[in-house]
Amino acid sequence: MSDADAKQIERMKSLLATQKSAFRADSHRDVNRRKDDLDRLISLCQKNVDAIADAICHDFGNRARQESVIAEIAFTIQDAKHTKKHLSKWMAPKRKPLPMTLQPGKAYVRREPVGVVGIIAPWNYPFQMATAPLVAALGAGCRVMLKPSEHTPATSELLKTLIAEHFEEDHVTVVTGGPAVGEAFSKLKFDHLFYTGSTQVGRLIALAAAENLVPTTLELGGKSPAILTDNYPVRAAAKSLGWGKCYNAGQTCVAPDYLMVPNGKEREVAEEIIRVVQHQHPEAASDDAFTAIVSDRHYERLNAMIEEARSGGAEILQPDHDVEAAKAARKVPPTIILNAPDDSKILTEEIFGPILPIIGYTSLDAATNYISDRPHPLALYVYSSDKQQTQRVLNATQSGGAGVNINIVHLSVPDLPFGGVGASGHGAYHGEYGFLTFTHERAVLETGKWHPSSLLAPPYGKVYEAVAKKQLK
Ligand code: NAD
Repeated sequence: MSDADAKQIERMKSLLATQKSAFRADSHRDVNRRKDDLDRLISLCQKNVDAIADAICHDFGNRARQESVIAEIAFTIQDAKHTKKHLSKWMAPKRKPLPMTLQPGKAYVRREPVGVVGIIAPWNYPFQMATAPLVAALGAGCRVMLKPSEHTPATSELLKTLIAEHFEEDHVTVVTGGPAVGEAFSKLKFDHLFYTGSTQVGRLIALAAAENLVPTTLELGGKSPAILTDNYPVRAAAKSLGWGKCYNAGQTCVAPDYLMVPNGKEREVAEEIIRVVQHQHPEAASDDAFTAIVSDRHYERLNAMIEEARSGGAEILQPDHDVEAAKAARKVPPTIILNAPDDSKILTEEIFGPILPIIGYTSLDAATNYISDRPHPLALYVYSSDKQQTQRVLNATQSGGAGVNINIVHLSVPDLPFGGVGASGHGAYHGEYGFLTFTHERAVLETGKWHPSSLLAPPYGKVYEAVAKKQLK
């Protein structure tokens, strides 16, 4: 471990102790203070649109500014505004009915902040993946330590500076570093640990947190399928899927990973998607609206996936492009793959790039069986004009979320939970689901000085016998 990492780890431990004692001294931020916290985050975003978009662009080599503005900055602002709007209602104690036998009294749930929480964020949306859980944690009244990704250093440093300018260190703070820091971070005794990233590292996080019985939310990845049915217009599906696969150059956790189409339609669909993406991004290399691949390692990984499929007999379709310019810009052009071997990486590993393999199916049951034979994905998309058929697909499969005739956009509906199931993670956030992730629902029963339950204490007599007899019925 480097000296810098060792120093950072010591600093983290001391920050946690500081935040824990600050929480103990002041554990119930009222609604106005929480709204003020969210306002500070909104202002941080609004005042720094250019700086944030530029930092992300620098980290990626090229990140479409339109994507950074909408999916990172505006997303956080709208999420914070939505939370502010509903916060009083979410925070209010929830009265619960009291059975006759337990009356008189009052039963209710107090929604309390869990305490000091840790958030570990990935590189693919390096701002939003840190700030969206932060919105939820601030709404819940928690104190927060944030660890952004080492793969987007400019954005992580900027986030650290901006958070320090807008929040007290004992309230919200950012610690930076790579896997060694991440590993030490995941071993801290937080009151909740919220992790977004790969399934592989998610497993390590769950193990580390279990050691201290720290509850976790795991927002993981996986292969999200799309199914096109025979009754849905190919052009409409191609437009939607071409957009979703190229957004952030496919480096989106809920991007459609592979597409299943009725046998015989593979080529027609592939050519239509190529037409769509050629129109959206006429020249991938020079088009600033087409995002680059984040690092050389991921660029090489994606090209190796394409080459492995090609050498296994697959057909590779790409729009006409300047190969050398794309390489220099670290861009993988939109790519469709037909006839990929079953055991190729493109069909067995999460792609996380603008590459879409298409698989033919003989029947809808065969398609849903293919999906159900694999780990539960984070998202599933079905393109169908038949509502019964859609329900059939949803009934026969499991996934974190789903889109019908649309992809990716379901995650921006503020009141829908966003999270995985099984291998794609557990727990959820956004809107009230995020608020509840960082909230402890404390059950309270309040009575006066005397309560009939005292009649049930020993020495047991006739009252006890009568009540027990009644309760056993
Ligand atoms: P990653 O798992 O490599 O890294 C994520 C974070 O974990 C980083 O901050 C990293 O420093 C930290 N980390 C790395 N090793 C660690 C360790 N041993 N212990 C503790 N922390 C460690 O993920 P990534 O490559 O940055 O992100 C891509 C993955 O994230 C994809 O699989 C994608 O599907 C998934 N993802 C999921 C969601 C979601 O909402 N479910 C959103 C975005 C990305």
